[in-house]
Amino acid sequence: MTLKLSHLARRVGHSGTLAIEDRMLQLRAEGKDIVNLGVGQLDFDTPEAVRAAGVAAIEQGMTRYTPAAGTEALLRAVRVKFERENGLEYGADEVIVGSGAKSVLFHGLLALLDPEDAVIVPVPAWPSYRSMIAVAGGQMVAARLDARNGYKLTADGLVEAVRAARGRAHGLVLNAPHNPTGAVYAREELAQIAEVVQGEGLWVISDEIYEHLIYEGSATSFAAIAGMRARTLTVNGVSKSFAMTGWRIGYGGGPAALVRCMVAIQSHTSGNACSISQHAAEAALRLTLEGDEALSAERQRVHDAMLRRRDLACRELAAIPGVTLVRPAGAFYIFADFSSHYGRELGGERVLGSSDLAAYLLSAAGVSVVPGIIFGDDRGLRLSFATAREELSVALQRIKKALA
Ligand code: PLP
Repeated sequence: MTLKLSHLARRVGHSGTLAIEDRMLQLRAEGKDIVNLGVGQLDFDTPEAVRAAGVAAIEQGMTRYTPAAGTEALLRAVRVKFERENGLEYGADEVIVGSGAKSVLFHGLLALLDPEDAVIVPVPAWPSYRSMIAVAGGQMVAARLDARNGYKLTADGLVEAVRAARGRAHGLVLNAPHNPTGAVYAREELAQIAEVVQGEGLWVISDEIYEHLIYEGSATSFAAIAGMRARTLTVNGVSKSFAMTGWRIGYGGGPAALVRCMVAIQSHTSGNACSISQHAAEAALRLTLEGDEALSAERQRVHDAMLRRRDLACRELAAIPGVTLVRPAGAFYIFADFSSHYGRELGGERVLGSSDLAAYLLSAAGVSVVPGIIFGDDRGLRLSFATAREELSVALQRIKKALA
């Protein structure tokens, strides 16, 4: 019997980055020496005090359903975090906790999108935005980012994308620090985008999940720009900031009417985020806000290590002939342009684009990277520097040799 699958199921593919991870793990299982620059998470452990809070939650029996929106304690910590770190005052009914930032983003889109509504997404972009918008019934319209602009959306670029959407543009998804380019916006740059947002009457989802991984400049929340709070859902989480990707805790802040709908939808879909993880995430946010010395020292060590890795990776990549890059100001990825190597015959095959090149580097150099096509920009490859310096250096030397 052939099962009839939905239109939706046929339209939404498996996460491309996870598929590459699977292929890399398979090669490793076969005994191949692979350096993984495809990773989307820190290679550090969750901080000790946060792990202890998770254990305590289990021991103390915090193992039952919590309110769908999140525990009172975590929601309180989220509100204080938004206020102190982002200058955003949210009321108790304006915040939500979900199973990872992914869940908060998706429930936000479900609450905002009507069929055929267009959402503008600056491209290259994290691929889940396209899939989530499609599942929510909308359509993604790309605003092309340019390396010459540091891969940042400009007011003109946004106006152009709104025109391309032919009257159907209702929303914008902003992501800074940006995956895959590491771009971070100055307040003034966000203010220029905000003017267009206001003029066009768009809502905005601002994905700030990499907020604490910044090496140059500082993070400004889009909702903190004058006039933007009432039309913005701010999404964040502990996954990247506290090396807690597996705990699955994300959170959001936005207008009460929107958050209320998101909580209602969430109450029927995922329900509350894991009770144990919520307790641990509350400890992470609270201890940070209290200035806990051990936690802040642990996080500073991670930050310093990431900064050194970024500098090493940029230096070694820039030394590879035919590769150009924009130094990432945040997150832990470099989106480097390898397109001058397209058209070459490498390993007996003609390399036509980023997928071919990534496959070649995996087999010939034993280095796993993510092809830019997955992010909607075939000129580049995404290399993660969330890897030990020695491994990073080995990987980049191998890439250089494989392309020589
Ligand atoms: N947003 C962006 C831009 C990401 O890169 C990721 C993870 O890779 C997420 C959201 C997902 O975060 P979480 O693991 O908290 O769901």
